[in-house]
Amino acid sequence: MDAFSSRPCPACGSLGLLSVVVSTEGTRVMFTICHHCEDKRWIDDDREVPLWSLVPEFRRRWTARGTKTG
Ligand SMILES: [Zn+2]
Repeated sequence: MDAFSSRPCPACGSLGLLSVVVSTEGTRVMFTICHHCEDKRWIDDDREVPLWSLVPEFRRRWTARGTKTG
């Protein structure tokens, strides 16, 4: 289950991405950070997602502001 480990960095193209699987609220997402440019991404189901969409506290704040989700 390390199919993501060989993907290049979307920012600089380096293959030095470090991937960490993180569980939140029963959802497994992947955090990647690039050794080369330190670009950080959250990946859910092979798609990049913003951090606030993963953390309930962030989600509440953003929706309270009227920001659309999804
Ligand atoms: Zn990079």
